[in-house]
Amino acid sequence: MQAVLKRAARATVDRVGDELLRPPRGGFGYFKNHGPRTERAVALTFDDGPSRPATEELLARLKELAVPATFFCVGLNVEKNPDLVARAHEAGHVIASHSMDHRRACALSPFGEAHIADSERAIERIIGKRPALYRPPWGWLTPWEGKRLTRRGYTVVGWDVFTLDWQTPPPPFTEIAASARREVQPGSIVLFHDGRTFQDRWEAPATIEAVTSLIPALRNDGYRFVTVAELLRVPAYRA
Ligand SMILES: [Zn+2]
Repeated sequence: MQAVLKRAARATVDRVGDELLRPPRGGFGYFKNHGPRTERAVALTFDDGPSRPATEELLARLKELAVPATFFCVGLNVEKNPDLVARAHEAGHVIASHSMDHRRACALSPFGEAHIADSERAIERIIGKRPALYRPPWGWLTPWEGKRLTRRGYTVVGWDVFTLDWQTPPPPFTEIAASARREVQPGSIVLFHDGRTFQDRWEAPATIEAVTSLIPALRNDGYRFVTVAELLRVPAYRA
């Protein structure tokens, strides 16, 4: 009985949190959810990696298609796969932060910045630069977390196209690509996932195939691909 109640309470908290704290409505004004609506540019973003083999495969596809992307990396996965971070950076993708360990509590707690600082250091150790773009884990952003992040010089990045590629099992890749194509507008930021936080190996076949078919489709619609930093006209890194 207690377990059932606990689960129900948890589900309610998660629903309320998603509504109040997550893009597109939540986040108390701190989120940048899209770029200018005047130009047919779009930014693809990948959260929760890097991981094997998903990120490796994705980097190969993005290279073939000559598309720059933005990777919101989880610090723990950065430490597990430093070579993938270095490769993505060298290939011209932007390395951004998605916290050290991807807990909802990061944003909820009024105290502590270790989840921000540790991930920042993990990335800096590899690429020699500190990220300036941050996406909070679960997309949950409180006013005090927003203040902590902007004080440190971060642009807080949300999204306006939310794909369901994180579901287990994910929808067919054709559906993921088709719904993303329908929802993209000039200036859109599209959310995908190339890892999972406490998972050593992560295959993301639906994500990879969806991205591979979405890119030519959007090009056909007149879009070009840019990083989030280019789209929002903000720096990707801090000195
Ligand atoms: Zn995430």
